[in-house]
Amino acid sequence: MRVGIVGGGIMGVSIGYFLSQQGAAVEIYEASSTLGGLANTVTLEDGVLVDRFYHVILSSDSHLRQLCEELNIAERLRFRETRMGFYHQGKIFSMNNMLEFLRFPPLGWTDRFRLGLTVLYAQFVRDWQRLEGTGVEEWLVRLSGRRTFESIWRPMLRAKFDGGFENTPATYIWARLVRMKSTRKGISQKEEAGHLIGGYMTLIEAMAGQIEVNGGKIHLRCPVEEVVIKNGRAIGLRVGRDVHFYDAIVVALQIPLFRRLIPDADPAYRDFLGKTDYLGVICSLLVLDRPLTGFWTLNITDDRVPFTGIIETTTYIDPEFVGGHHLVYLPKYTLPGSPWQEKSDEEIREIWLRHLETMFPHFDRRWVRYFLVHRERYVEPLHGLNSAHLIPQVKAPVENLYLATTAQIYPALTNSESVTRHARRIAQTVLEASPALIPLPVQTVIQTAAVDIDI
Ligand SMILES: Cc1cc2nc3c(=O)[nH]c(=O)nc-3n(C[C@H](O)[C@H](O)[C@H](O)COP(=O)(O)OP(=O)(O)OC[C@H]3O[C@@H](n4cnc5c(N)ncnc54)[C@H](O)[C@@H]3O)c2cc1C
Repeated sequence: MRVGIVGGGIMGVSIGYFLSQQGAAVEIYEASSTLGGLANTVTLEDGVLVDRFYHVILSSDSHLRQLCEELNIAERLRFRETRMGFYHQGKIFSMNNMLEFLRFPPLGWTDRFRLGLTVLYAQFVRDWQRLEGTGVEEWLVRLSGRRTFESIWRPMLRAKFDGGFENTPATYIWARLVRMKSTRKGISQKEEAGHLIGGYMTLIEAMAGQIEVNGGKIHLRCPVEEVVIKNGRAIGLRVGRDVHFYDAIVVALQIPLFRRLIPDADPAYRDFLGKTDYLGVICSLLVLDRPLTGFWTLNITDDRVPFTGIIETTTYIDPEFVGGHHLVYLPKYTLPGSPWQEKSDEEIREIWLRHLETMFPHFDRRWVRYFLVHRERYVEPLHGLNSAHLIPQVKAPVENLYLATTAQIYPALTNSESVTRHARRIAQTVLEASPALIPLPVQTVIQTAAVDIDI
């Protein structure tokens, strides 16, 4: 069975790996000069490789850890106890253990108690479909109270959704509360965050290497221009003037990119695909000569600050692995058409640095070794109230064609744990359509973690 895969991000490469392990002859087409997509690295001027965007592995990411074991790269995983905090009304508050939570000054006793109950309650919700029709504001106000919503939740939601979260279902915050709680253990509720030395590229390269060992091929700098469809069947991929023929085609891209590749599909299907939009991101990476906050994540509840949060990955990545630098990411998520995406890198740099100077009066621009601005248009699929029916199925309504995209992971969050799980399922679906191949062994199909939100 010959399978053509479009997209060499973690989704496409994982699917290629799982399929090739079962004897399928896979070929991956990647438009850029390297694999990795959003999980790619960037080379600093001094030659050091660092993650383009912040990526964390949680101790509870069991599928990812199992995959690392399988690929003999588990010894490159590193975990550290980390701290999370809040920037609220000009001050930083640590929020790491029960004691700090109980003392959290911005909220009164009753509000703190209700906030704690919100986090706990979320862990027991299993029937996420019921939250699909409940707005995130309605759900949070009901559980945490209006005061907590206005002072904590509203500014965080506004920051994440570039101002507009009114159509967002409660599943959004529920999935986050479940994931973040999953890494906090025991009475102390201490959290652990981790990474692979070399970033997710270590995992992606290990899978790519195995694909080649299994006889598969990876084509870089090969943008696919069209999925060739004849009489309702996907037969091949057009790259430049050539068409490459396959028994099955898996497109591992965001929905709008997939839509562009299938001009000959049923117009009704293409209209349907046009209904999903995405949050984009402008993410600045500050490479500093010293630590900034000491917190893995600093949540910001101040509307005046343009970035969503401060993520200092060198709180869990030992700086020795990234050239002795300290890495701080300042993301700003953007809605389609957001005026923020019009601003030049220079403007972003100036605005971001000015805000940092206000937030941290001791901050000195001389600490900045490099300041990089990265942008992406399709980062997180936007999911509105009662819109699960708008998520496209893996099996496209075209014979031999499959779509593998992060929007299908809903309501779980899109991260490498959920993406690689999803990729394993998709490989299974493709294999089941081809009885000549051996299905994946049962014990490696899906190991359900306590925190997995299975859909
Ligand atoms: C700011 C930010 C923070 C994140 N934080 C985390 C985190 O902490 N933990 C975590 O696990 N995940 C995190 N993620 C999410 C994670 O990076 C993504 O979920 C994951 O990388 C998505 O992989 P993908 O393969 O689906 O898509 P992509 O990475 O977008 O891959 C798609 C690939 O397809 C290629 N392509 C596009 N068009 C074509 C074409 N026509 N022909 C051939 N190739 C094509 C692209 O070049 C790209 O390489 C974060 C993402 C961002 C942006």
